Amino acid sequence: MNTLSADDRLQVVRDATAEYWKHIIPIVQIAFAIHVLLLGLFLIVAIPVMWILNALSIAIYIGCLFAIRRRRYQWAGFLISAEIIVHAAVATWVLGWDSNFHFYMFCIVPIIAFSFQSSPVRRTCLSVAILAVAVLGFAFRHHVPGAMIGVKAQEIFGIVNAFTATALLLHATALTVRFNMTMQMNLFHSAHRDSLTNLYTRRRVLQKLRHLGGGRGDDSTSIVLIDIDHFKRINDQHGHDLGDVMLQRVAEVISDCVRVTDIAARWGGEEFLVLMPDTTFEEAKQVAERLMLHIRAQTALDEATTVNVTATLAVATMHSGETFRDTLNRADQMLYQGKQEGRDRLMLAS
Ligand code: GH3
Ligand code: MG
Ligand code: MG
Repeated sequence: MNTLSADDRLQVVRDATAEYWKHIIPIVQIAFAIHVLLLGLFLIVAIPVMWILNALSIAIYIGCLFAIRRRRYQWAGFLISAEIIVHAAVATWVLGWDSNFHFYMFCIVPIIAFSFQSSPVRRTCLSVAILAVAVLGFAFRHHVPGAMIGVKAQEIFGIVNAFTATALLLHATALTVRFNMTMQMNLFHSAHRDSLTNLYTRRRVLQKLRHLGGGRGDDSTSIVLIDIDHFKRINDQHGHDLGDVMLQRVAEVISDCVRVTDIAARWGGEEFLVLMPDTTFEEAKQVAERLMLHIRAQTALDEATTVNVTATLAVATMHSGETFRDTLNRADQMLYQGKQEGRDRLMLAS
């Protein structure tokens, strides 16, 4: 269910747009380089209308790169789209349909679709312009002058443009796919990693449990629950910011002590959970003992501040048929008992 507010949606579009243009900048740079080459070529063969058009295009691409730098992405999208469509139309008129300048219009279809997703009028206008140039250009291909260059030159332009524009489209598509992948990775990271400690979130633990077989135990999955002792006191004495630093330290210790196949998560404020697949109770107990000792060794918060930090831990193994919730409850009860008995100890929920 999508529960994003209008404000959240706006933020998503903003973030995605910035990321998209970061990926698409090489296309603008390549387009710029192509127009520099064309400017030189048309100066040599002395076709004023074409070299003036290319000089203008170069200015537009410089403007486009400026717009991207200043995060004016709609402007960047509009400039590149308008330039390519107008250029295709004029070049087709002057050099003939067979010169294949219209091919370049298809490279900007994904850019138009992305840049104007929330401006349907602009998107429609630019899309209709592409359709018009493509269809009318083809329909009137025998009527456009195209006489400024000979048939042979048209043929060469046709081949070079077909190759360059198709390569550009392939590259733009690959960049768009890479952009999609980056967004998916970012999404996965923010949904499954805690922003303060970079440990996994509860969501990732539950997802892993589903992969392990619906969250029902088979005596081969163990958990360790870790709760920092008197953390409120650490916050009160040293301030919330140093409390955060201590949480990060403990998180690092936990990450370093477990295997890559284990899921080390921040379960609550100052509470952590390690989910260990393929781990017997005895093995989990050894890991928990190591964790307890290493957490105790974390005393310095910064150069000036030292603090004794300890944690109470509970180990449990998911029995056959037992749900994760049941195992967690057993560990939780033992953790509570450990707190009652004086903290800084390892409790076994066997
Ligand atoms: P106990 O030994 O019984 O666990 O005592 P405790 O003080 O650790 O436990 P309690 O539940 O009373 O307090 C937990 C404290 O953790 C209170 C809360 O402000 C603090 N805390 C939770 N999340 C964060 C955080 O992200 N950063 C900081 N600095 N403190 C946090
Ligand atoms: Mg605590
Ligand atoms: Mg707690």
